[in-house]
Amino acid sequence: MRRCQTCGYPIEGEAREIVPDSDSGARPTLYRHPTPDGCAAARRARTVLPPLRRYRRP
Ligand SMILES: [Zn+2]
Repeated sequence: MRRCQTCGYPIEGEAREIVPDSDSGARPTLYRHPTPDGCAAARRARTVLPPLRRYRRP
């Protein structure tokens, strides 16, 4: 799963790749949300979880 380096939340959909500008050693490619709005949306999606219990019938 790709995780945003800025906000730390998973990235769903389009992600901006960040290739570390280093010649020493192999570093993993980092990802970020393309826009600050993407970070905000991911934060909201994680903060407001859907009430799954509501759909579970006794
Ligand atoms: Zn983000």
